[in-house]
Amino acid sequence: MNIDLHCHSNVSDGALAPAEVARRAARNGVDVWALTDHDQLGGLAQAREAARAEGMHFIDGVEISVTWRGGTIHVVGLRIDPAHQTLAGGLAHVRSGRIERAKQMARELKDSGIDGAFEGALRHADNPAMVSRTHFARFLAEVGAVEDSRDAFRKYLVPGKPGYVPHQWAELVEAVGWIRAAGGAAVLAHPGRYGLSAAALDALLAEFRAAGGEAIEVVTGSHSPEQYRQFGAIAAQQRFAASRGSDFHGPEEGAEFGTLPPLDPALRPVWRDWAL
Ligand code: AMP
Ligand code: MN
Ligand code: MN
Ligand code: MN
Repeated sequence: MNIDLHCHSNVSDGALAPAEVARRAARNGVDVWALTDHDQLGGLAQAREAARAEGMHFIDGVEISVTWRGGTIHVVGLRIDPAHQTLAGGLAHVRSGRIERAKQMARELKDSGIDGAFEGALRHADNPAMVSRTHFARFLAEVGAVEDSRDAFRKYLVPGKPGYVPHQWAELVEAVGWIRAAGGAAVLAHPGRYGLSAAALDALLAEFRAAGGEAIEVVTGSHSPEQYRQFGAIAAQQRFAASRGSDFHGPEEGAEFGTLPPLDPALRPVWRDWAL
């Protein structure tokens, strides 16, 4: 079965509406699909409906932004109840500072000679409350300040570069707690992307487990094949379940839906006990 448990719609920083994402997933042969928008549950109803029309099994998901040791990490929640008030309330709080942060990012970019970034980013954000660095990256590419989105995250938008504004997201224990309160499984997203030392990664995994986290993403669009092996070995050694998800954001933006390799059969998939 082709199982893809991580992607975005235009309810957060994806380029396509939930129903368009569903059609693309189906066309790519995905059998089990989770929509995991950043800090938002607003696309799930439309996605579920579209998945049914395409004959795909749908999983309600979310990707929560977390501040850990001063940096940002992401925790995916799978099979959550989107009506659960603890989760919905927590996410509303996490989302709340994005507009102010975007204004500050635009001020920094202006100081670097790039005008109109706030309005420009908002033009790319179908849901203004979820304006993100992705939308700034699209704007920077559009005006020719960078070659493409990747380049935008190299020259701007990351720590130490103009347009990066530190932000306080959820605490790790909060995010995992909300997911579990809503009946879901917590998955540490793309651990290879955080640039952590082995010791810091061990500390993160220990805190994540103590909070109730059960799985880590092994095969994701953010990992190299070498990292599939590295994080597969960590999942096996530390007895975490493993997950697979493209982190699809849009056509020609990073990994394509449902096309990554399968999980190593020696790993315990996060979906092992799900009725699929
Ligand atoms: P934000 O939540 O506004 O901080 O934006 C984070 C989003 O930016 C992530 O969800 C990714 O979609 C994107 N992103 C972060 N880092 C990179 C990167 N190095 N290259 C491309 N996209 C990135
Ligand atoms: Mn994103
Ligand atoms: Mn992420
Ligand atoms: Mn993601």
